[in-house]
Amino acid sequence: MPHPAPADGSLPQLKVAIVGAGIAGLTSALAMAARGIAVDVLERAESLDAVGAGIQLSPNATRILQALGLTDTLRAFWFEPDEIRLADGRSLQTLATVPSGAFARRRWGAPYAVISRADLQRTLADAVRAHPLCRLHLGVSLGDHTPAAIARHTGEMPDLIVGADGVRSKVRDSISGPLSSHPATARFSGNVAWRLTLPPRRPVPPPFDPTVVTAYLGRNAHLVAYPMGNDGGLNLVAIGSGRASAESEAGKAVTRAAVADLFAGWSPALLAALESADPLGAWPLYEVSDGPWHDGTRVLIGDAAHAMMPFAAQGAAMAIEDAAALAEALANALTHRIDIRSALDSFVESRKPRIEKVRARGAFNRFAYHASGPVRVGRNFVLSLRTPERLAEDFDWLYGHRLPGLLS
Ligand SMILES: Cc1cc2nc3c(=O)[nH]c(=O)nc-3n(C[C@H](O)[C@H](O)[C@H](O)COP(=O)(O)OP(=O)(O)OC[C@H]3O[C@@H](n4cnc5c(N)ncnc54)[C@H](O)[C@@H]3O)c2cc1C
Repeated sequence: MPHPAPADGSLPQLKVAIVGAGIAGLTSALAMAARGIAVDVLERAESLDAVGAGIQLSPNATRILQALGLTDTLRAFWFEPDEIRLADGRSLQTLATVPSGAFARRRWGAPYAVISRADLQRTLADAVRAHPLCRLHLGVSLGDHTPAAIARHTGEMPDLIVGADGVRSKVRDSISGPLSSHPATARFSGNVAWRLTLPPRRPVPPPFDPTVVTAYLGRNAHLVAYPMGNDGGLNLVAIGSGRASAESEAGKAVTRAAVADLFAGWSPALLAALESADPLGAWPLYEVSDGPWHDGTRVLIGDAAHAMMPFAAQGAAMAIEDAAALAEALANALTHRIDIRSALDSFVESRKPRIEKVRARGAFNRFAYHASGPVRVGRNFVLSLRTPERLAEDFDWLYGHRLPGLLS
């Protein structure tokens, strides 16, 4: 059945199909709908199960979720940590703190929050289901990503296909095509994320602090620990060198052995605390950093366009920013009767420099977090000289970012 025509008749109709109902796809649907654009979301999974345990949402992302009217619901689930802390994995000495909580709201105009991925995904999906301009189709596996193939599921030929289908995007393959001079590929980074959790209501052993986000730094590896939301439980992510095949091998025992190996020589208290966590498995980390993002009728957002390492905890935040930026570019094109290809060009032009800057911050963090020897000593010395206020200043360009338009 076709989408109903917009009630106020203000914008000419544009039919958009979004492939993938992860954070990028669902947020994109809500952002388009907020700007009066009707969307179909096609997801290959039969049900929406979030992958992983917790996620950090920085103010540049929560500002957009706020503009979409989601924060009243999300606030019931998320937790606003008091600070973001860097600590030495061997000595447990605190190296630096960036204040968060009320400070983040004041400085960057929106909360810094941690939340369980399941609660975030459910909130987004419920809002999509409830919106009259959105339709969510689950269990849809497309052979190809042409308008005709999509129309077979939705009953309408889309004018634009948004590839929000993650790091192994098939929409990306169809944009790049075999003849492209810049084929986009997902490349294994050489690093693996091992995830563990301490479920809610289980006591949190020291040195873990359930009121803050802590990154414990060590030689060639680091461990991030933070609460999963406001009903307790701790999210633990260990990142270090590993093999792409780690995912298929990652039983509980293998995960424990890999984590013990990564953190050999670290603080015994930290290792003992990790023993009480439940291993979830391994995520080999892939990056996408090249190739075109659109071909005039298809456009990529989120990990499909620019999967990045989680060293700056910004992959989902960038997907949320993409969603808002694309909706604004399309709404602007419809209002001013600009053609869609030009709107997609402006979207990509506005997003690429920011993505590259965030990627560079992640690469710097990777170098600094995993340092050893004199570099580690230098890092610790430099951090010891910086006040929390100075450290916060360093995040203004990232967390204080405002997109042009209504959704920021
Ligand atoms: C260890 C780790 C920690 C992280 N921590 C953070 C953090 O704290 N903060 C942060 O901002 N980011 C973080 N990230 C990054 C973040 O998780 C991702 O960038 C984000 O989830 C990407 O969302 P997405 O919607 O683009 O892709 P995905 O989440 O991969 O969603 C893609 C969706 O498309 C569907 N799909 C795939 N192919 C098809 C198809 N052919 N047809 C239909 N549907 C399809 C999939 O089933 C899925 O539902 C982290 C990443 C990792 C690995």
